[in-house]
Amino acid sequence: MAARIPGLIALFDVDGTLTAPRKVVTPEMSKFMQELRKVVTVGVVGGSDFVKISEQLGNTVTNDFDYVFSENGLLAHKEGKLIGTQSLKDFIGEEKLKEIINFTLHYIADLDIPIKRGTFIEFRSGMLNVSPIGRNCSQEERDEFEKYDKVQNIRSKMVSVLREKFAHLNLTFSVGGQISFDVFPQGWDKTYCLKYLDEFSEIHFFGDKTYKVGGNDHEIYESERTIGHTVTSPEDTMKQCKALFLGN
Ligand SMILES: [Mg+2]
Repeated sequence: MAARIPGLIALFDVDGTLTAPRKVVTPEMSKFMQELRKVVTVGVVGGSDFVKISEQLGNTVTNDFDYVFSENGLLAHKEGKLIGTQSLKDFIGEEKLKEIINFTLHYIADLDIPIKRGTFIEFRSGMLNVSPIGRNCSQEERDEFEKYDKVQNIRSKMVSVLREKFAHLNLTFSVGGQISFDVFPQGWDKTYCLKYLDEFSEIHFFGDKTYKVGGNDHEIYESERTIGHTVTSPEDTMKQCKALFLGN
């Protein structure tokens, strides 16, 4: 690998950038990444957990990419080896976590909305996912809630209450999708993985959701540490990388 450009890494989002959303990588893209890897160091950073990323990019993902950051880098692999882990419960601690969960459940209990189902808070290793209607609603109920929320602003009102109540914990509240919002410590977006990339002076990031509102690639795209590239599809990712790194 001596021929690779030193100090430069190409870092990729997964969904919509290396694969179609929630789909498996194409053989063409896998082959392309291996070609690219001859020239530059390559890494992936996805919001999903390691199991999901392995399903999408293949179970050899930690060998196919120099760096694999799942859950935005809360789980970090370098050259096939695990180099770091972080979790919400270790970081915040059980007491404060319980405080947030209790308050949130009380708030939802007092909320008057047309229907409620189950799983109002999903505990994930790096975040809480909060849903006023409950995550195990049907697709139809989900669509209905989204429409209702657009008019009634259920989620945004809830977020402003929580944001004020827990201002001292430096949390980020991110409204996305149809029925929920995420709660996680500040900086636990995709920029989290950059702490493992100090040796690189030129970090090219490629992502499809680089826009400001609700774009999960926005922070890393905007970061001073990266050169951000917005892509529209996996095909566009290949096209931009060819032009940038392969000279065609
Ligand atoms: Mg994406």
